[in-house]
Formats: sequence, C-alpha cells, structure tokens
Amino acid sequence: MKVLVAEKCGFCPGVKSAIMLAKKTLAEHEHVYSLGPIIHNDDVVRELAQKGLTTIDSVDPIDEGTVLIRSHGATLKQLEKLKAKHLQIVDATCVLVKRVQKIARQLQEEGYKVVMIGDAHHPETQAVVGFAKDVVVIGEASDLSNLQGQGKLGIICQTTDSPDHFAEMIAEIAKRGFSELKIINTLCRETKQRQNAAVKLCKTVEIMFVLGGLHSANTKKLAELCKKHNNSTFHLQNWEELDKTVLKGKKIAGVTAGASTPDRVIDELVANLRAFEADS
Ligand code: SF4
Repeated sequence: MKVLVAEKCGFCPGVKSAIMLAKKTLAEHEHVYSLGPIIHNDDVVRELAQKGLTTIDSVDPIDEGTVLIRSHGATLKQLEKLKAKHLQIVDATCVLVKRVQKIARQLQEEGYKVVMIGDAHHPETQAVVGFAKDVVVIGEASDLSNLQGQGKLGIICQTTDSPDHFAEMIAEIAKRGFSELKIINTLCRETKQRQNAAVKLCKTVEIMFVLGGLHSANTKKLAELCKKHNNSTFHLQNWEELDKTVLKGKKIAGVTAGASTPDRVIDELVANLRAFEADS
C-alpha cells in the first residue's frame, strides 16, 4: 500500500520539553510525581512510569518528593497546595499554555469578563479557569446561555481548538449585543499547522489514519477535521488497534498524528501499512 505522511505531525515543542524535563527530573530525584498524566499518550506515560514516575490525581496523599506540572498546566489552587506542603515543583507547563493563563488574568484585571472557547473538561481549560476568577467556558452554542449581562468580554481559546470552531463561537457571541469584545487569538501555531497538513493530505488519499491518545484534544480535533473531508478516517493509538479489514481494496493511505504521539508509533504504523500491500 502506498502511504503518505502529513508534512507536519507528531511531537510538538511543548510535549518534547515536558518529556525531557520528566526524564531529567527522574534522573536527579527520588519520589517523582506527575499531577495528572504528563501528556495524553498512554505509551509515553507507561514508559515514564517504568522509570519511576508516579501519576497522581490529587496532591492530598503526597507529603514528600518532587511534583511535575504537566504540559497542560495546573490550577492556582493546586500550586498553592504544593507550596503549602513544601513539595518541590518542576514546572513543565508549555510556554503557550502559560501565555493563555497570563492573558486570562490580565483581561480580568482590565475589567473584562473572561470567556474561554474550549472544552470545559480539558485540563488546560481547567488550569486557565483556575488562574482568573469567573471564567466562562464556551464549548458549543448552547453554552452561551451561561453568558449573562451586556458588559465587555475578553475572549480567548484553548490552544488546541480549531480556527473554524473559534470563529464560529465568536460569531455567535457577537450576535448577543455585548458592549465590547476583546478577542485574543491564543490558538497554538503547532496545532494549526498539523490541522492544515492533515486536511490537505486526507483529501488526497482513500483512507486516513489519525494516531494519538484517545483523550488527546488536539488528536481528536485532527480526526474530527479529517472526517469532515474524508469519511474513511480512523482515530487509533497504534498499529495493534487497527482493524485490518478497513484496508480491503485500498491502495493509498494517509497518516497524521497528534502532538503527543511519539515518532516510533508513527513509524511502526507506516512501515506496517507499507508492508501490508505485500502480504495482501
Ligand atoms: S500543542 Fe501547542 S500549546 Fe499544546 S503543548 Fe504543544 S506547543 Fe504547547
């Protein structure tokens, strides 16, 4: 089978740096914890767990050791708890996520009601919500009922949102008659480049594979976008998960991967797909 790989896919700088920092911390310290999975990729989390990284959901049970803040960041409340317990903190929050947190607080200080376009359940959004008071999260048009009054809004978005969704929600908000809208584009360029490359590729192939964690927001967004343009799009974590019957009759496949998918997972899928032609 002929296999084409998206021009831009796989690890982004934020994820690379979080993994490097985790490995360095594990080499230098004992009792290293990650507050939530360090990145949204089970293979990488398992690999780091074998090296001694323990993933925790809450800081409550920890009294000593070093705590890594993952690429999605942590809430102020969590950070204050860690400091109060005198735990050592290693901050692997992506610089672009930190920027969103700072902007949210700045907007709030300037008197704007902060609105974040994104998924309320995603850890990045929760961390931003925990950085400025009363942030309203808008995931879809029905959430707009949570926006009261007619004052001024400061609008930001989750770094991994798609430009289309961001624009769609802004258009909905604009219809509501607020006195002022200050919009700051906080989309991550890495995410956008992966989305553009994936859409370009999926239009040219018979079948499209999007590799990455099932909880990874940017991978899910890639799959959603590709599905819009190519109905034969499949989101999977690795080659083992692939139902080989979907390859029947297909001669050309496309592959992309989310920002938390290691190269080896991409290489394995590509190599196996290429070999599949010889076997079938
Ligand atoms: S996708 Fe962008 S914002 Fe998220 S970790 Fe990577 S570089 Fe940072």
